[in-house]
Amino acid sequence: MKLYNIKENDEQVSFGQAVRQGLGRNQGLFFPQELPKFDDIDALLAEDFVSRSTKILSALIGDELPAEQVNSMVDAAFQFPAPINKVKDGVYALELFHGPTLAFKDFGGRFMAQSLAAVSDGGKITILTATSGDTGAAVAHAFYGMEDINVVILYPKGKISPLQEKLFCTLGKNIHTVAIDGDFDACQALVKQAFDDAALREEIGLNSANSINISRLMAQICYYFEAASQLSKEERENLVVSVPSGNFGNLTAGLLAKALGLPIKRFIAATNENDTVPRYLETGQWDPKPTVATTSNAMDVSQPNNWPRIEELCQIKGWGLDTLGKGKVSDEQSADSVRDLKAQGYLCEPHGAIAYRLLDEQLQEGETGIFLCTAHPAKFKEVVDEILGSDIDLPAPLAKHAAMELLSEDLANDFDLLKEVLRRVQ
Ligand SMILES: *Cc1c(COP(=O)(O)O)cnc(C)c1O
Repeated sequence: MKLYNIKENDEQVSFGQAVRQGLGRNQGLFFPQELPKFDDIDALLAEDFVSRSTKILSALIGDELPAEQVNSMVDAAFQFPAPINKVKDGVYALELFHGPTLAFKDFGGRFMAQSLAAVSDGGKITILTATSGDTGAAVAHAFYGMEDINVVILYPKGKISPLQEKLFCTLGKNIHTVAIDGDFDACQALVKQAFDDAALREEIGLNSANSINISRLMAQICYYFEAASQLSKEERENLVVSVPSGNFGNLTAGLLAKALGLPIKRFIAATNENDTVPRYLETGQWDPKPTVATTSNAMDVSQPNNWPRIEELCQIKGWGLDTLGKGKVSDEQSADSVRDLKAQGYLCEPHGAIAYRLLDEQLQEGETGIFLCTAHPAKFKEVVDEILGSDIDLPAPLAKHAAMELLSEDLANDFDLLKEVLRRVQ
């Protein structure tokens, strides 16, 4: 698979390089030079999740990795289902939260870990990442126990929910978690300092494993096919998919699935109050405002870093941006939708409820709708319990980690101290 840098088109890389490098020159995102197209979609949809996903990913990266290897990567990464759940006639929830950290980021994180191991040149790899919650957990679990890869995760001390902290700071082995005396921006600044230190980068094989890595998006393509495979042929004829969006990786993957031939009639780009994209689609002005905190905090992003990939793809395919559905949902409205869904017998947290609300408003006669449920309700237990006046149960993975001991070390917001940690864990 050949990819080019969207900002500097003359920079062209293989899949392996794109995975190792993450970003291209001038912070440019990598984009596939060619996209395969599947003609017999019905036959593809008839296969099981792992064999179908192997076919899809082999069509993309098969020139670099043999099909058997792609198969074992998919097998290791996708060890949990992505079921659809009927909420009412013509409306389905796609549940992407059955992985070890209860959010859709498990799919991308785990496939990225497999990809990085597959394309590694045998040298040492140190993954350094800053997290405000979900991504760190997915990365920690995805790389847990992998040989020759050390993971160091920085997070703001006392600023993530205790349950989230337990989920990824209790693993041990090659996963090192560091509670920084500072906020999330301070953690990100430390990571940036480390990447700016060329000698350190070389010495410990620094890699960011962050959310713009192309391998994540490729894994996420597969669950759109998996969702469609669970519908009848008639239902998937007029399919509308609503995607709760922050950095817009999930929507990029959905559009890529469509480019590969999956018949999706329309997507809805759903955001919370951080509505840079819906406003842009309305006015044509890219005008990010300061990020505001909401109850759907994994979508609190005002400068979505995957958006240039969506523009690129739509331009290549000749899809007008005006064909994208869109909308923003306030905290009050998403709470209403959580209650509405509960009344229909479906327990949902605010991120999924935002996608549901806009789908419900925009779905037309004769269309079938799917909204993406990106996190398990218990992952946002505090918010959900407050909205519903409930006390929902913790699913097994969360309950297990909640009872384990925290292994994080505390660190002052100081780059020299971080360097010591990075060298010590080698
Ligand atoms: C990361 C995340 C999102 C946003 O996904 P993007 O791909 O960044 O648009 C939505 N919901 C949850 C629960 C998330 O963790």
